Amino acid sequence: MAAWDVINATESQRTRFGEIPQYEEGLYDLGNGVYSWMVPNGSWGESNAGLVVGEGESLLVDTLWDLNITAEMLQAMQPITRDAPIKYLVNTHADGDHIWGNQLLAEDEVIMTLACEEEGREMKAAAMAMLGKVGELLERFGSGKVKKIGNYFHNMVAPYDFKGVVFPGATRTFEGEMALEVGGREVRLIEVGPAHTLGDLLVYVPDAKTIFCGDIIFSGGTPVLWAGPVENWLDALEMILDLDVETVVPGHGPVGGKESALRLKEYWEFLQREVGKRFSAGISARDAAYDIALGDDFKIRAWARWDSPERIMTNTHIMYKHLHLQGRTKHVTPAEKLLILSKQALLAYEMPDAPPASTRTL
Ligand SMILES: [Zn+2]
Repeated sequence: MAAWDVINATESQRTRFGEIPQYEEGLYDLGNGVYSWMVPNGSWGESNAGLVVGEGESLLVDTLWDLNITAEMLQAMQPITRDAPIKYLVNTHADGDHIWGNQLLAEDEVIMTLACEEEGREMKAAAMAMLGKVGELLERFGSGKVKKIGNYFHNMVAPYDFKGVVFPGATRTFEGEMALEVGGREVRLIEVGPAHTLGDLLVYVPDAKTIFCGDIIFSGGTPVLWAGPVENWLDALEMILDLDVETVVPGHGPVGGKESALRLKEYWEFLQREVGKRFSAGISARDAAYDIALGDDFKIRAWARWDSPERIMTNTHIMYKHLHLQGRTKHVTPAEKLLILSKQALLAYEMPDAPPASTRTL
């Protein structure tokens, strides 16, 4: 991150989860008319966005998890967008932390994959707010496991305010690939989902050798497989590695080069192997996740120190689902997600050294 200049830093001394920031929060000039909005250290909702600036107009990659933080980002971009107003908004996928500020850009052309738009309509900000509220109640009045689950849910969403969030939808959707011209520059949108979510895309800016990856790249944090199959995610990483790219902007974590794609590939290949063994041996998904995450082979790996390693619980469950279905994608319902996240919360308590500590405060 030292290679790039931060402009309009927010000067936060702590991350939203109370960690020491590994880089400054703010707008970074990546060179060649490309910028990124970075939020350390890339934990829950600490998501990145991007800005591609052409002659007299620009393209915004993603909004943030709530209206306040999206407004703060747009304000910080003003010295640039004053002369090159945002004409296009592209969403990399439908997770709230990349899309729930969209209503602040109501004038713009909003582009996403068709699958992203469909999933975006299903995700409700009110449900996320409810998750925090119910979590708080369970934390206060529950006991044992229930109390821990409540504590994890409550803390996960505590820094955010989902009030007033609506999802206006896209003005244009596509499948496959799409090219855009932004003030004389070519920007390519490449659908790579279903992988992290149902409708993931990459935003590739060839003349700047830069790619905005959304949550196909987590850097320094554990990736989450909400949709899968993981094979599609590995294909997307191969594509990033093959493209003429020098700057890789992850959805979470610091900007870097292609090494972040390589590290993630190693994580998924490791997990694919370990999960496969346990699936064949008839072990349950929950037990497989505990066995892998708390095993000696995991502890010596770089990802044992990544943010939120307990996400292995979700990853293992979704991999099991695909193994049962033999590669066919089946939608994970919100109820299933909630059940998996409850198991994930309990695993987090078994990994007491993992950041961010503030998701476990009991
Ligand atoms: Zn995200």
